[in-house]
Amino acid sequence: MKIALLTDQAKPVSGFDYCFYEAKQVTGKIRKPAGGMFNIITCFADNIAIREHPDWVAVSEKGKALRSNQNLRLLWDWVCPTNEKFVENMLGLVADVSRQDVLGIRLDCAQFTREGFCRCNRCVNMKKREESWEDFRASIITDFVKQAAKASKVPLMIGLEPDPAFLQERFGQDVDSFSRYVDSFCVPIYMDYSIVYWCDIIAYAFRMNVRKELVIDLYAGYPRKSIEDLFKAILAVANYADTILLSTFDYTLGEHIMNLLKDEKFYNVARQRECKPVLTLLDRLRT
Ligand SMILES: [Zn+2]
Repeated sequence: MKIALLTDQAKPVSGFDYCFYEAKQVTGKIRKPAGGMFNIITCFADNIAIREHPDWVAVSEKGKALRSNQNLRLLWDWVCPTNEKFVENMLGLVADVSRQDVLGIRLDCAQFTREGFCRCNRCVNMKKREESWEDFRASIITDFVKQAAKASKVPLMIGLEPDPAFLQERFGQDVDSFSRYVDSFCVPIYMDYSIVYWCDIIAYAFRMNVRKELVIDLYAGYPRKSIEDLFKAILAVANYADTILLSTFDYTLGEHIMNLLKDEKFYNVARQRECKPVLTLLDRLRT
């Protein structure tokens, strides 16, 4: 099992097997790609695109996919995934980033906003009469991922919503179809890790659903949690993950956590629990 880190800086933190950097954030901000790192491109969540092109927004019976829509609780604004101009921009970005000596590309928010999206005129016209909305939505997202894989010269990872049951129904994410085009999957399990029961449940379910490499992403940023709780979460998902990704969104915090993990007490806990992947990992980190 590998250990990875996501920070806000375009340089890796030593000790981690590889590191992630957001080349395009959910805000829509695009940054210079980080060489030697896994670069994240957030796709259809894009506040800047919606600010500049309000008519690009995804719509449903509950209204537009905007943070300001009180009928929905959205963290960012969403572009309709059938918008050809926007899709072309994203694929161009994938091609550009993949030429920059990067380790790989992770596509985030490659999905519909949620169930009921998108019912804009273009989507309504595109859907064939005999086709269900679920099939239409899945085919749009799968086709996007297929084109991204074609545009990319480096390994492609896709970020999934942490929902093992309704990915296709709610978000248009069809894991089996994605498997034909991507090399790995990343699932964020972001919560307070004082209780890690759900980490185990979700990680297990994704291990059963995903045939390719699986990255389990744990939140390790501010406000800081106790390192003991984070370690509990690591133990809970270790048997199911090929990589555990710690997302600190902060460089110094990443360095700090790497040092804390080398503490003897965690090694002892892993040994008591007979958690082989973590023991092997700590052996490697401590030498
Ligand atoms: Zn639409």
